[in-house]
Amino acid sequence: MSRTIVLASTQIDMSYLLPTFAKLAPELDIRMHQEAPEHADTVLCWHAPAGLFGALPRLRLVQSIAAGVDHITADPTVPPDVPICRIIDPNMASGMVAYVVWAVTHRHRHFDQYLARQTQGIWQENPIVPTRLHRVGIAGMGVLGLAVASALAMLGYDVAGWSRGPKPDLPAGVMGYHGAGQLGDFLARSDSLVCLLPLTDETQGFLNADLFARLPAGAHLINVGRGGHLVDRDLLAALDRGQLGAATLDAFTEEPLPGDHPFWRDRRIVVTPHIATRTGPTVVVTQLLANLARLDAGTPLVGAIDRQRGY
Ligand code: NDP
Repeated sequence: MSRTIVLASTQIDMSYLLPTFAKLAPELDIRMHQEAPEHADTVLCWHAPAGLFGALPRLRLVQSIAAGVDHITADPTVPPDVPICRIIDPNMASGMVAYVVWAVTHRHRHFDQYLARQTQGIWQENPIVPTRLHRVGIAGMGVLGLAVASALAMLGYDVAGWSRGPKPDLPAGVMGYHGAGQLGDFLARSDSLVCLLPLTDETQGFLNADLFARLPAGAHLINVGRGGHLVDRDLLAALDRGQLGAATLDAFTEEPLPGDHPFWRDRRIVVTPHIATRTGPTVVVTQLLANLARLDAGTPLVGAIDRQRGY
């Protein structure tokens, strides 16, 4: 079947995918969103222009180039019967594992203090708290949360995960919590809290003053989910009160983070430019092609989200 695929983003230059399409599927008609023809049936995107989906009457598939689909579900013009898919990539999980292990150890092993002291030539040691005495909580135990939990548990950290429903097959040594009823107990034992939730109507603003108050005093917040999970002013207030001791943030409501945002100059906050992990073009294009073939064959798509749940 002849197909026209639209590459759409208001945030990044999607032409980085063109050489991979040329190599793997030269027969496909690939267009940038600025010249999307009405007959296009597939959109591959990262923050597509508002209303694009509704303007394509033959749309059959919307594929994200990443694990998150909040940038797609935020647009109400995707027809309810059109599948939305996300990328599932083992390399994405290992990138996320490396980032979160770095963030947890950076603070738990005082590397933040050693880096500050190095600028003054100060040789000073902090006591090492054994990993088994440092409790890490991972909110969101999906593909990425499970990989992170497993790696931290192997390092000996006292790891727990929180998800929407119960998880029967958790990695060895990882405690499971689920649902609103168990959130308090989960938070109360999270010296480091990692947010790996999808952004949905339910999780918007999840990282707020009420949640911070339920963490142990001086906890470390690591947000590798989405900027929309975090209420920025509540974070600054919790740091001022000492309720939180530090934050490591990789995702922001507005990206790039505006130059005058207070997070940039706050020494209690580590800012990284949404780089926790990435998927290479070959995986993105290969997974899209697999989904197009599955669509034709009428078989289940890879990474299809539940439109009702929003993830
Ligand atoms: P998954 O869909 O595999 O997992 C989502 C997890 O969140 C599941 O465990 C789910 O619970 C849980 N969850 C969803 N809603 C709720 C809720 N209301 N209450 C409690 N738990 C909930 O996602 P991934 O692991 O693949 O990705 C997670 C997120 O990581 C992405 O959506 C994206 O926001 C972020 N991300 C960030 C990147 C970065 O570079 N910073 C890169 C890639 C992803 P259940 O298991 O019960 O369904």
